[in-house]
Amino acid sequence: MSADPDCLFCKIVAGDLPSDMVYRGDRVVAFRDIKPAAPTHILVVPVDHHPDVVQLAAKDEPLLTELVTVAGEIAKAEAGGEFRLLFNTGAAAGQTVFHVHGHILAGEITGLTA
Ligand code: IMP
Repeated sequence: MSADPDCLFCKIVAGDLPSDMVYRGDRVVAFRDIKPAAPTHILVVPVDHHPDVVQLAAKDEPLLTELVTVAGEIAKAEAGGEFRLLFNTGAAAGQTVFHVHGHILAGEITGLTA
């Protein structure tokens, strides 16, 4: 397992910071976004630290597949299975936390993260 001691989401994954966790697996976790932009807004996150989704795809393709599969299962349980899965990639595209996370969004979107 790889972790970055300065990474917010590594600290959440480790349980060192609080979160509203909805899924915890060996390689993937999911927790509610602290500032929801839709009725369902959950972040699906690998346990291992990868800065963004492109780097994750290059380094560990099965983990990316697991991330998407878990997102689908959560969206099905929470919102009937129809959802958006958003990976902001790079600061100019709105990424603020550089530990890859997919935004699971379902229902009316009231504002996207900047
Ligand atoms: P980004 O802008 O795509 O990097 O998304 C980062 C997301 O993390 C934003 O939607 C934030 O609201 C969310 N966020 C930041 N800190 C926390 C936290 O402590 N718990 C849950 N979500 C957080």
